Amino acid sequence: MPHPKPTEEQSPRFVEVALPVPLQKLFTYRIPPGLADLMRPGARVLVPFGKQTLTGYVANFRTELDRQSDLTEDEVKDIVELQDAEPLVTDEILGLTKWAAGYYATSWGEMLKASLPAGINTATERVVSITDTGRNELSKKGKSIAAKWTFLELIADNGELTEREIIKVLGNTSKYRISKLARSGFVSVRERTVATKVKPKLRKSVRLLKIVDDSDDAKPLTEQQQAVVDTLKNTGGEMIFTELLARAAVGASPVTTLAKRGYLEITVEEVRRDPLLKNEAAEHEQLNLTTEQKRALAEIAAAITTGKYAAFLLHGITGSGKTEVYIRAMSLALARGKTALMLVPEIALTPVFSRRLQAIFGQDVAILHSNLSPGERFDEWRRIRSGDARVVIGTRSAVFAPLENLGIVIVDEEHDGSYRQNESPFYHARDVAVVRANRADAVVVLGSATPSLETFHNAHTDKYKYLRLQNRIGGRPLARAELIDMREVFKRAGKDVVLSPQLIAAIEETHVRGEQTMILINRRGFSSFVLCRSCGETLRCKNCDITLTYHRIDGYLICHYCNYNVKTPKECPFCESEFLYFMGHGTEQVEDILRKRFPNLSIARIDRDTMSRKGEMAKTLHAFDKGEIDMLVGTQMIAKGHDFHNVTLVGVISVDTMLGMPDLRSAERTFQLLTQVAGRAGRGNLPGRVLIQTYYPEHYALRHAVGQDFEGFYKEEMRYRERLGYPPYFVLASIMVVHGDLKYASKSAAIFRDSLDRANKDGSLRILGPAQASISRIKNKYRQQIIVKSENRKALREMLDQALNEAEARGCDRRIVNVEIDPVNLM
Ligand code: ADP
Ligand code: ZN
Ligand code: ZN
Repeated sequence: MPHPKPTEEQSPRFVEVALPVPLQKLFTYRIPPGLADLMRPGARVLVPFGKQTLTGYVANFRTELDRQSDLTEDEVKDIVELQDAEPLVTDEILGLTKWAAGYYATSWGEMLKASLPAGINTATERVVSITDTGRNELSKKGKSIAAKWTFLELIADNGELTEREIIKVLGNTSKYRISKLARSGFVSVRERTVATKVKPKLRKSVRLLKIVDDSDDAKPLTEQQQAVVDTLKNTGGEMIFTELLARAAVGASPVTTLAKRGYLEITVEEVRRDPLLKNEAAEHEQLNLTTEQKRALAEIAAAITTGKYAAFLLHGITGSGKTEVYIRAMSLALARGKTALMLVPEIALTPVFSRRLQAIFGQDVAILHSNLSPGERFDEWRRIRSGDARVVIGTRSAVFAPLENLGIVIVDEEHDGSYRQNESPFYHARDVAVVRANRADAVVVLGSATPSLETFHNAHTDKYKYLRLQNRIGGRPLARAELIDMREVFKRAGKDVVLSPQLIAAIEETHVRGEQTMILINRRGFSSFVLCRSCGETLRCKNCDITLTYHRIDGYLICHYCNYNVKTPKECPFCESEFLYFMGHGTEQVEDILRKRFPNLSIARIDRDTMSRKGEMAKTLHAFDKGEIDMLVGTQMIAKGHDFHNVTLVGVISVDTMLGMPDLRSAERTFQLLTQVAGRAGRGNLPGRVLIQTYYPEHYALRHAVGQDFEGFYKEEMRYRERLGYPPYFVLASIMVVHGDLKYASKSAAIFRDSLDRANKDGSLRILGPAQASISRIKNKYRQQIIVKSENRKALREMLDQALNEAEARGCDRRIVNVEIDPVNLM
């Protein structure tokens, strides 16, 4: 949709603004005189919203108010401030986020906010001042020392104070007193904006203006001033300010004096915070593509040449050289004057990979991921916006990077769960990437060794062109995978054991050969849960409907959903018996068992607990790569992307918890994980082996994973999806009504269900619920879920909108209803 630039003749008086609030509508504001000509769609504006001031985004202009709209001339408020003369948001991203908000039934403003680097928006703070009524009241204080008087006195003494300042003096509870006293009219509260959190980084440099010779009859220089001049002379006449001070061993004042006297000039320039600055550059070797790679690249190249939209699935087994194809394809797009965007999963964006891309594309590359400091992210983003960076590599939200003239979009490991944003605004970056390419007449390549069922289905039905890489580079054989039937092991040992004799023997053999092992366990912590053998109760989180995980390192039970933790009790809190049992195994416990069993192996663990410090993960992986560590134990963080040439054994301790999750994608995820993990073994020239311990060796996901048989798995899984009415056959929506009061949540959910039934006139929707979600409570909020299925996406969206409107009219609060279109998991 075109955004008409306002013209002189009929200057718009109003503007519709997208606000980052969970409501699917735009808000109308009046344009103050003089601003109309300066405003562009996509520019940020500060606007009053209730009692707050929010940053919104200019969406549309209006010359008249809509008569249907519920606001009158008098009610419409003025824009407080226009923040960008040059809009931050490009027209393309404005259109894309609008589409995404519509598609995912969420707020356009939230989507826009998510598209920008965090910290770019102006923050506001609350300022409290005392009113005349308040001063009057204060005069009645007498000798009382009640909190109210202390509060009023503090404000009166200072004239006005920010909320933060008040809390500093009077403590956190004073927050509530502010609202209370404001209601009584004793104080007034307003919002004021504070400066943007991230700013360009500036650097001062100093340049020598005239070469000073000793016969000059001007006032002689002091010793320090002379040192400054000499230092500058010796280094070619120009230096960075701080460096100059250090070298000349002086303070700032002789430099500024010299500047005043005209000897030198101090300039301020912007510098870039480069996230890769500290990295040594990688070598870039030119490889000869294999026949398969050439064939795939040729098809993509042809599509790039036409300058039209085309979508590909690059289905290549692990180690088949997909990355090389991506890089060549991006280079081709650049050579045609276009830009390139590459999305990677959270975990795969390693410094090693970034360096490699930088070696190839130089300063053209910008990196966007969540580990960057806000300053780095801001600078990278602005290099993209200004056109200085033409290749972007990034995680999920980089799908909204403001590249113009886009030629190619690549989504590596397209099946990866981290592309899904699991909080509002919900979106799937892979799907947004495809739509973005389509709207921008660009080529999109989705790559994976284990495509998601949706994507594979799209390739089957010719929505995507199918490209296959069947062989591993250098003809390296795939790892041989075997299932270990833990029922047999149990029978023979007479008890539950964590390590089967087969796995133990394999670890020993691997070590004897001087090779390395990885052990995958899908749960962090020591044990999965604590059970009382006397009364049968499990120890659960007090805020969530979930069992607590025992972490032995600090002796605490921790909730992995809300971080609630308690010291592990000695006896059962329910029946006071001493028979507490620690059930299931986490990474901590497996590490422990392995250390005891293999005392001469050096073992390291990788999971969220050990890797919370920045750089820790890279360090451990590096040590493993160099062979300083024999065995790596970890969660699925270790399963993806890494390329260790000496790993020949991968053990999977228990795949059953993952398989048993009450979720429609648990089989698919298990299959993908096992295939990925098998790809870790035997990357070098040595043959690899994968041992998977399970109590369900008959499960089709396991059978096909062992056989590396994607098509076989796909066929069986598709039958199951069809029978149960799941994607890709059906479109799903999950509606989660979340509230701290169970009755209120249930009532709202019931109203919503009723409204859905009415919207569902033709009966084409299948509606399930409301029912308790699988995790019925998180962070003290009850979760009531309704699941809607339809074969027709458009009909589903329309009926949902209708139901949302009707439910709202009937008193169901829209803000507690979380709608998720295409949910990735249903828990
Ligand atoms: P995938 O992403 O498909 O798992 P990679 O792109 O990581 O595979 O490639 C696996 C390995 O093969 C890498 O070490 C890569 O450098 C190497 N490689 C890729 N293409 C070639 C080629 N044409 N010739 C030689 N080595 C290659
Ligand atoms: Zn008990
Ligand atoms: Zn919890």
